[in-house]
Amino acid sequence: MTQKRVLVIEDSYETQQLLAELVLEPNHYRPISAMDGEEGLRMAQEENPDLIVLDMQLPKMNGLEVLEALKEQGLDIPVIFTTVRESVELVIQAFRLGARDYVIKPFGPIEMQEAIRRVFSTGALRAERDQLTQKLVDVNQKLQRQIQEMNVIYTIGRSVTSLLDPNRILNRVVEAAVYLADAEEGLLMLLDKDGDELYLRAAKGLDEKIVRNLRVRVDDSVAGRVINSGRPIFLTGSQAKVATGYLSKALLYVPMHTSDRGTIGVLGVLNREKERSFTEREMFMISALADYATIAIENARLFEAIEVERAKLATILQEVEGAVIVVDEADKILLCNSAARTLLELSEAEEDVVGISIDQATSHPDLLGMFQEAHQTDRVIHDEIPLSDKRTFNAQLTPIKGIGRALMMQDVTHLKELARIKSEFVTAVSHDIRTPLTTIHGYIELLPRAGSLNAQQQEFILRARQSMDTITELIDTLLDVDRLEAGYEIEMGPCNMIDIIESSIKEIQAQAREKEQELRWDPSAHPMMVYGNPNRLRQVIDNLLSNAIKYTQRGGWIAVNVEQEDGHIVTQIADNGIGIPPAEQPYIFDKFYRVESKETLSIVGTGLGLTIVKTIIEKHNGRIWVESRPGVGSVFSFVLSALKESDRQTAIDRA
Ligand code: ADP
Repeated sequence: MTQKRVLVIEDSYETQQLLAELVLEPNHYRPISAMDGEEGLRMAQEENPDLIVLDMQLPKMNGLEVLEALKEQGLDIPVIFTTVRESVELVIQAFRLGARDYVIKPFGPIEMQEAIRRVFSTGALRAERDQLTQKLVDVNQKLQRQIQEMNVIYTIGRSVTSLLDPNRILNRVVEAAVYLADAEEGLLMLLDKDGDELYLRAAKGLDEKIVRNLRVRVDDSVAGRVINSGRPIFLTGSQAKVATGYLSKALLYVPMHTSDRGTIGVLGVLNREKERSFTEREMFMISALADYATIAIENARLFEAIEVERAKLATILQEVEGAVIVVDEADKILLCNSAARTLLELSEAEEDVVGISIDQATSHPDLLGMFQEAHQTDRVIHDEIPLSDKRTFNAQLTPIKGIGRALMMQDVTHLKELARIKSEFVTAVSHDIRTPLTTIHGYIELLPRAGSLNAQQQEFILRARQSMDTITELIDTLLDVDRLEAGYEIEMGPCNMIDIIESSIKEIQAQAREKEQELRWDPSAHPMMVYGNPNRLRQVIDNLLSNAIKYTQRGGWIAVNVEQEDGHIVTQIADNGIGIPPAEQPYIFDKFYRVESKETLSIVGTGLGLTIVKTIIEKHNGRIWVESRPGVGSVFSFVLSALKESDRQTAIDRA
């Protein structure tokens, strides 16, 4: 430690001596002395001592004048003054002028020693405090700067999510990079489509001439090196070349990474004039900005792609012949193509329709009914919508997860008309064929009576009769389907499913026995009442039972079951027969549809049985479905509403 120097400004030689020998030297301070005020001041200026012991009564310049001069000259040297009289004004004045302590003359060495120690220790504390304050100011400034930097990065982040214009975002990113790195210039370059050149996308402070056509090759540029390595690059001096003829003194480039397309560009800052090179910390900040720029570019790209898809979809929807309406979960229209607008006689412009609710768009009870029903089920709802202009539309309301529902409507007027013509034709032809058939039938019956027949002739007649029976049955069935489809009201009343099944089983039992099949039926003690037509329901059971027997091997089983569930009667006819391949299941209820396989090859049928069954069930407002596995068996189930006590009473009253 260097020895502390103490300047004693004192006109008494004895006091000088006393201080030097008894106070300063024993405590390892080096004494310097001045005998008057002027000399003292000069020495204070020249020597810059660590402490001044100043007598207040001095020749030439008194103590207060010395203190004043010291203060004026900005010399911040701690001063202990000595005085013979302890005047309050003097002490206050001296302290105001910066004195730190005082001692009353005459004083003993211990007294002065204590005062010196106090001054030095408070001096040290003060220095320490000043140092800490300075540090605090520095840290505070740094923090302020960091907060500002964070703010810049945060603002850029926010604009990435709120601004869709990528040009503005990228220009802001470059500006922020220049600010954060305290750079002179900044630039953002992107890879072109071919991936072999980088072009300038945004710049700040760059020379105008360069901005206009800055393009660099990936295999021959600093930016290209960043693209290839995927890592940041710091350069200084002669290496820091941006493009041909464009040099900078310091440069920092960071890559712009995407997860699926790799590195797509670079964000860089440059110093053309300043020598200062960029720091690691600046690199991190610029990298954060580069990430934001990448997100902005990716967002813009995705947005563009979505926009193109949306436009395509909108065009397709507008162009399709059918009417399409998409609604949200609250039945508010999101989309309505022109066919739908024409159909519902809505405004020409789509924007007038979007946002209104479906019941504002139409008052058609069937359509509104479909939307109401849709709120109770996740299934697709179908319906036929007759319009006042005699046209008929096939409507399908499909739930769309996360969006709402889509209503699609197709004009089926001409199909309905075709079906009517076809049906009329079938009825006419069937009727017309029936008469000659009856005649043929009669003559076949008469043939044996016309003379004796040999065995072969009898065999031929038997085959002819069998074929006749098949044709007659087919025609009867066709006429039946036709009748059902024509929608004639069938007479309804309360009927017990148990009775219907019992009577059907009684009749069909013989067929099962013939094939050595077990017919399982365990009727419940309670009646299972439905509101329906007993003959038609019997037809359903007959068809399902005869199919089960037909399509189940010899020795198999068939089981019938009826149960009541929440106001519904569920009837099931199960077998362990050949089953139906899943791919065929959706079509077996279609007219004339038969499964073609080696198992069904020898089984005769028309493919109309299940059509009749389904039509009858639907006439009863019921639903029928099949569950089946090839080689395991099939279960046909249908559900009808159970007859309510009130319905039964009404039916009885009516009777
Ligand atoms: P079909 O007169 O051919 O029996 P259906 O309309 O009654 O006509 O049945 C249509 C087709 O469904 C049948 O050809 C058969 O392939 C299949 N099918 C119907 N019931 C069963 C069943 N219980 N087991 C296996 N296949 C069946």
